[in-house]
Amino acid sequence: MSRSQSQKSHDAPHDVPHDPFHERLKAYEGRPAAVGGTGKDVVNLPMIRHWCEAMGDTDPAYRGPDAVAPPTMLQAWTMGGLSGHTDRSGAYDELSELLDGAGYTSVVATDCEQEYLRPLRPGDAITFDAVIESVSPRKTTKLGTGHFVTTRMDIRADGELAGTHRFRILKYTPAGRPKAAPAPRPRRPRPVVNRDNAGFWEGVAEHRLLVQRCGDCATLRFPWLPGCNACGSRRWDTVEASGEGTVYSYVVMHHPPFPAFDPPYAVGLIELAEGVRMISNVVGVPYDKVRIGMPVRLEFLKVDEELELPVFRAGGED
Ligand code: ZN
Repeated sequence: MSRSQSQKSHDAPHDVPHDPFHERLKAYEGRPAAVGGTGKDVVNLPMIRHWCEAMGDTDPAYRGPDAVAPPTMLQAWTMGGLSGHTDRSGAYDELSELLDGAGYTSVVATDCEQEYLRPLRPGDAITFDAVIESVSPRKTTKLGTGHFVTTRMDIRADGELAGTHRFRILKYTPAGRPKAAPAPRPRRPRPVVNRDNAGFWEGVAEHRLLVQRCGDCATLRFPWLPGCNACGSRRWDTVEASGEGTVYSYVVMHHPPFPAFDPPYAVGLIELAEGVRMISNVVGVPYDKVRIGMPVRLEFLKVDEELELPVFRAGGED
């Protein structure tokens, strides 16, 4: 069989590729969504009054002996209330199930349009039918990809067409969250370097562990502080620690997890040979082999391109 290119493009324009699933959906167009619906109440003044109060609509046309119903109440007269409708057709449910089965399991109401052909007045008895008017080709929206289903309801008052209510939904497959690139491993927190401790970090950069010494009473102090905690003097210089120390105390961190750290790990309070203590990591032994009194030796750990830290290695003796 030979079909010319022009016929082909006529049948299937380039921007609407042939979609067999859409063909199946389109077969529901024109089929009833609701048949023989009956309003639960005739058009009546109490419902009109409640509506106007809720909407803040004070138009005198909706009050008094010659009142009409606000046109926008059109759908209200067809609603099934808590007890629901008994007039739904099988076709609408079938269409929903077809879409569900294809993965379009989510639904959102997108818009409605109403046309008013004649006013509704108290006493009008409401009947309605609804038809599946159209099912769109597959569309991609911010919410996800799916099909718009438009239903048209024809509303009659005492048998006479009074208005139409078009209601559109999107049955869709929710868009996944945007796939994030695998997160780079978080970096260890940066030390806070300020004018009081900058000298310490300058020492670290030279692989020297510097301890402050009071310029008046010669008391050593760590961490770095502006003044001596023995005599209050603000004069100081530094001494370089030998790097020998012992584990004075330690904890093993299990929880909470903290980015860039893999629990469990040991955090030691290291007593330097010079007598001051500092908090650091104990490396070179498993976290559960760290012991109080264990001898440790200073080394510098290059954590990343920008960060080096003094840590203490245990287990060098055996
Ligand atoms: Zn001092």
